[in-house]
Amino acid sequence: MNNSYIEKAEEAILHTYNRYQIVLDRGEGVYLYDVNQKAYLDFAAGIAVQSLGYNNKEYTQALKDQIDKLTHISNLYYSVPMAEAAQKLKEASGMSKVFFTNSGTEAVEGAIKTARKYAYGKDGGTDHEIIAMKHSFHGRSLGALSVTGNEKYQAPFRPLLPGIKFADYNDLESVKALVTDKTCAIMLETVQGEGGIYPAEKEFLQGIKALCEERDILLILDEIQCGMGRTGYMFAWQEYGIEPDVMTCAKAIGCGVPVGAFVLGRKAAEGSLAAGDHGTTYGGNPFVCAAVSKVFDLYEKEHILENVRQVGTYLTEKLDGLVDKYDFLTERRGKGLMQGLEVNGRPVGGIVDRALENGLIIITAGSNVLRFVPPLIITKENVDEMLEKLEGSF
Ligand SMILES: *Cc1c(COP(=O)(O)O)cnc(C)c1O
Repeated sequence: MNNSYIEKAEEAILHTYNRYQIVLDRGEGVYLYDVNQKAYLDFAAGIAVQSLGYNNKEYTQALKDQIDKLTHISNLYYSVPMAEAAQKLKEASGMSKVFFTNSGTEAVEGAIKTARKYAYGKDGGTDHEIIAMKHSFHGRSLGALSVTGNEKYQAPFRPLLPGIKFADYNDLESVKALVTDKTCAIMLETVQGEGGIYPAEKEFLQGIKALCEERDILLILDEIQCGMGRTGYMFAWQEYGIEPDVMTCAKAIGCGVPVGAFVLGRKAAEGSLAAGDHGTTYGGNPFVCAAVSKVFDLYEKEHILENVRQVGTYLTEKLDGLVDKYDFLTERRGKGLMQGLEVNGRPVGGIVDRALENGLIIITAGSNVLRFVPPLIITKENVDEMLEKLEGSF
């Protein structure tokens, strides 16, 4: 049955993804089922999206209730879910103002516009620069692609935004060397995701924060993948004793509905985008905001952060054990339930394919990293099951 749907899809869908050869039909907890009812333990969570797992009854009921009331009204009016979701995001982050988008990429676009407008407001200049990081990932639209430090993604689409410079992640001196009077923002993922799971070192991030304060540059932290509890903190930067001026969110913030946000600290909120400067038709509609609002409630009710810390510690120990045991596993990196295993001497793709046959969904990051970003509700028993299936795939 898988094959006929794959054929149909390939006939009609533009081939920009090399998809795995399964057709998924439904999910329950931390398991996905394909159309043949084969079960898969899911350690990818739809790329770090499904933090609450699949078919969480309270979450799905909240969405059903909202569908019956109202799904969309445009941003010309207020709605109850919008007010509640924005307040909860503001409270969880301790930041000042929220703009809801439909995706992570759009949140990044908003962050870039915020930085440009902030600097324009100060000096009227139109040639401001942004410092981003090599091996970063911020999205595929032209603005987000411009700050994505990946030559392969960028090359066919030039010219991109001017004034973007790339520093080496975790190398403060390389950032300092790029700062000029025109720098309006320094932008990075608190934990690099697609690039291969690299957490920022404390001195690096604190050093960038100090630099930003000193030069009145906006610090933009992309928390689209590493935020919403994945590292054991609601936002990964909360472990570093610093606060960004702009934060981008998406992925797990809606746990399966398309929503993102950029969130501004007081300085950026007061000195940048004003009425008429930015907009979106769908962004933050009642349907997606009902999801966001329920997600924050359920994080608390289900003690998600505590679970990430406990099970994350367990997963970390077990993955370290694998690195000790297998020569081709050369390093573990990550925080909480955002982990990577570096593979050398054999293709990661083969391991992922074998895992899929064994009923385990894992994904890759960079060119040689196995990525573990499971639902944040997983248990130690799920980790044990994952390890058995993974080792069976080596
Ligand atoms: C996924 C991701 C994005 C892009 O988000 P989309 O919702 O796919 O547009 C941007 N930044 C990071 C760090 C991501 O992981």
